[in-house]
Amino acid sequence: MASKRFEESCIFCKIVAGQIPSKQVYSDDDVLAFHDVNPAAPVHVLIIPKEHIPTINDLQASDAEIMGKLMLAARKVASQLGLAESGYRLILNCGPDALQSVFHIHMHLVGGQKMGWPPF
Ligand code: IMP
Repeated sequence: MASKRFEESCIFCKIVAGQIPSKQVYSDDDVLAFHDVNPAAPVHVLIIPKEHIPTINDLQASDAEIMGKLMLAARKVASQLGLAESGYRLILNCGPDALQSVFHIHMHLVGGQKMGWPPF
């Protein structure tokens, strides 16, 4: 089997490798979830593929399964953190207009407060 994509300079690849500490809330073979270091809501977790994929624009058809796994991990994390009933928001930022700052795909799971809409 091919080894997982890894980028030496990527902060989230370093978190996956344990080279940078994180407050993990979920981990399996393909997905890691950890608390955002600069939370924007009472609960703010980042859910990432363990493989390096820079942005949504880089996704290939073969990445469909891992993206589905991110959603399933989000459901587990939300339940684990007591947000399943109250609700939560999942956000994927892509590129400059969306203010993506870390170029390793990550899904923000935010909750623990009533939110507004639209989000901009
Ligand atoms: P983006 O703007 O969608 O790219 O979000 C990147 C997120 O990563 C921001 O919410 C940052 O606070 C978060 N972040 C950056 N470095 C770390 C870290 O080392 N640990 C946890 N979260 C981080």
